[in-house]
Amino acid sequence: MVPARRSSKSMKRKRRSHHALRPMNIAACLKCGQAKLPHRACSNCGYHNSKVSLKIETEES
Ligand SMILES: [Zn+2]
Repeated sequence: MVPARRSSKSMKRKRRSHHALRPMNIAACLKCGQAKLPHRACSNCGYHNSKVSLKIETEES
């Protein structure tokens, strides 16, 4: 079976012109300088901003 109205090359390409992925935004932690995602607490030290910071559990063996 073939669709009754196949979308043309140009319409298909116009639609897919918005499909590209953008590179991830990475910021440096203000406290330790580790790369982190914006609006998220640092995975290394748990720091988010001066008001909010999380305690990171460290493995003790
Ligand atoms: Zn940090």
